Amino acid sequence: MTISTSVYQLNADRPDEATISLASRTILAGGLVAFPTETVYGLGAKALSEAAVAKIFAAKGRPPTDPLIAHIADFEQLPQIAINLPAIARQLASHFWPGPLTLVLHKSARVPANLTAGLDSVAVRMPDHPVALSLLRAVAVPIAAPSANLFSRPSPTSAQHVLDDLAGRVDVVLDAGNTPIGVESTILSLLHDPPCVLRPGGVPLEALRSVMPDIRYETRFVGEEVAASSPGSLLRHYSPRARVLLFSGLDEAKVFAAMRAEITRRERVGVIVSAADARQFTGLDVAIECLGADSGQAAARLFAGLRALDKRGLNFILARAPEKKGLGLALWDRLLRASVGSLIEV
Ligand code: AMP
Ligand code: MG
Repeated sequence: MTISTSVYQLNADRPDEATISLASRTILAGGLVAFPTETVYGLGAKALSEAAVAKIFAAKGRPPTDPLIAHIADFEQLPQIAINLPAIARQLASHFWPGPLTLVLHKSARVPANLTAGLDSVAVRMPDHPVALSLLRAVAVPIAAPSANLFSRPSPTSAQHVLDDLAGRVDVVLDAGNTPIGVESTILSLLHDPPCVLRPGGVPLEALRSVMPDIRYETRFVGEEVAASSPGSLLRHYSPRARVLLFSGLDEAKVFAAMRAEITRRERVGVIVSAADARQFTGLDVAIECLGADSGQAAARLFAGLRALDKRGLNFILARAPEKKGLGLALWDRLLRASVGSLIEV
């Protein structure tokens, strides 16, 4: 079913009150509003309404086994979502909220089963973006919001990305420009002892460990058919239509040589690489998306770059595995998933 989608431009720092109020009425009436957060655009609906949450799954084509993140504007809203809060929840929240850290906690009985994909746990965070916070304050209830893309496509970092995927499937899109961080939140389970990162993201592991040194992180990728006991570990995700080949190796010269050989051997190839790496591909028949000078810029540009290359109708997109530190860990995770496990060790 197609619905009419209204798009409103907003100032990212000082969102217009009348527009926020209109969007909040849409959410409270059970509708869908896409809005910017500091990570990516979210597809929001009332978190405590089963019917509203069901609309999110339908609009995205998201499997019911993949749970959503609930968003709040105030720590005092947390008991509506989660119970038996460990002391470290408040400690982590005071360090990282508002910000790109999602905590997995015991769910409250008020949370509908579809929000958590039937799990006893629930994921929650407080986003650090004036538009998201204004909307959350205006509705005064938690908002469920996964990324505002079609399931398994690269996440949206602009309102245009949202419209490319969801025009006719969402009531309102709040457009406040590009999202500053560009990769999703770090998901930390406080139900594990010690706490465990389920998905690397906008808060680097090093920053978490500076507050809580024993936090664990293990990569665990599983197939799509597996029930969501560790839902962040769905492998196929963030995928462009082109096949992504991810090159990794300690000897840079060998890695670049392997990438150039692949470009020469194949047709309709693109690369998505840092500004420094881009020089390795001049003069070749290849579309180049430049991720900038550092991991912060790369995070902000990754999904837009994958989408831009995809629009050119390429067969292959080549990338080099980033160093797994700082935001590089989140980049590595997204590229690995975009490549559906086709990691080429050189
Ligand atoms: P998205 O907002 O689209 O990035 O997706 C939300 C992600 O949050 C899911 O794919 C899961 O990885 C994660 N998540 C949500 N709820 C839980 C939970 N109860 N336990 C573990 N991970 C969760
Ligand atoms: Mg997503």
